[in-house]
Amino acid sequence: MKSRTVERVLTGRPTSDGGGVRLTRVVSPEQGLDPFLLLDEFDSSSADDYVAGFPSHPHRGFETVTYMLDGHMLHEDHLGHRGDLKPGGVQWMTAGRGIIHSEMPQQVAGRMRGFQLWLNLPAADKMRPAAYQDLEPERIPARSVPGGRVRVIAGRFAPAGAGAEALDGPVGGGATAPLYLDVALEAGARLALATPADHRVLAYAFEGAAEVGGRRLEKGQLAQLGAGEALELAAGPAGTRVLVLGARPLGEPVVHYGPFVMNTVAEIHEAIRDFQNGRLTTPA
Ligand code: MN
Repeated sequence: MKSRTVERVLTGRPTSDGGGVRLTRVVSPEQGLDPFLLLDEFDSSSADDYVAGFPSHPHRGFETVTYMLDGHMLHEDHLGHRGDLKPGGVQWMTAGRGIIHSEMPQQVAGRMRGFQLWLNLPAADKMRPAAYQDLEPERIPARSVPGGRVRVIAGRFAPAGAGAEALDGPVGGGATAPLYLDVALEAGARLALATPADHRVLAYAFEGAAEVGGRRLEKGQLAQLGAGEALELAAGPAGTRVLVLGARPLGEPVVHYGPFVMNTVAEIHEAIRDFQNGRLTTPA
């Protein structure tokens, strides 16, 4: 199995979004990391940085995946869904044709920490009905590995080595067949895992420094990996926690405008018109 090596290292930059939530944008659409459109990290113990939340807003054409590490957020959408996001929980939302929702903090003090990933949908799925899965922390399986543990949010965790058993997460399949792992390793621990050969793979060190594909990543750095079937991770001297993201590129044109991600400019205009006319979420 060929191990992936690092092609590019990206460092997140501070920005704000929603009602004025301070966050770090690690991946943005301009970077061309098909099918990954966006990765935001939020982490603050200062309520001013997050209380404004993300009031009612639309999405069309992709999926948003919110992974909470600390804090409590309430999600409500136009379909009447309400979902509580608590530490260790995930909301996997497929906007499809359209969703109008809010994501609001349910606390006025304490730490709020987590990630939101935007994953593109292929042209064939962009106008499908909206759907979402609220994954309680208990629904996300974890596996102990030497000197660490791996939580499997999506796809299959397949440790390298004879006799090592694979573990499937609650989300899988679709055109991008995503892999989403949260890997924690103590100082000195190493882990090798299989990654599908047709995936684009990213790794983001969010606690402590790590070694990814033989290269040191500081906390807050993301590695874009090159071709291969395996990924090798090691913890830095203080231990580490790394998000491992994999997905099949779509190879389709991407036109992004605010909360809409489509294939053509005409489709973006249509999305704006539909939203203004109250037809974003349901056909006329
Ligand atoms: Mn949203």
